Amino acid sequence: MGMDVLGISPVSEQGRRFHNTVWWWRPLWQYCEEIAPDLIPADNSGHSNNGWGLDASGALALANRLLEAVASGETQKYEERYRAHLEALPLEPCKICDGTGHRAEPPNTGPGPLSCNACGGIGKRKNFATDYPFVVDNVREFTAFLRDCGGFNIY
Ligand SMILES: [Zn+2]
Repeated sequence: MGMDVLGISPVSEQGRRFHNTVWWWRPLWQYCEEIAPDLIPADNSGHSNNGWGLDASGALALANRLLEAVASGETQKYEERYRAHLEALPLEPCKICDGTGHRAEPPNTGPGPLSCNACGGIGKRKNFATDYPFVVDNVREFTAFLRDCGGFNIY
């Protein structure tokens, strides 16, 4: 599953489409919401694929906000805080083997005779939130799209 952000009136190839998987999109959009609450209303539906978006002036204003944040180093600091937060999250019991480290014969799940290939036999896995990465480069790519998209809709 992924998110396609489509330019309404693109002025370059870069402004036509921005794509992130849902795992990359959620933290990116959350960051946009945090730094631009004046541009993105709290009741926006940017985490859905329902076509929510900003018009040309809104997209440009968001691009400029992100550019400033990247240039000032704020985005880098956010990335570091975000990563530290993820690394501090507790491990979760493995769902494939019910946390036992030994699983049933595939395609069945649950405890069984086999060493669990999902968790390496440990019985625990990384917290699910670690599947949602955030890096400055992804913000830069989105900013390049925003500058040239002429407004956008999120699908
Ligand atoms: Zn397991």
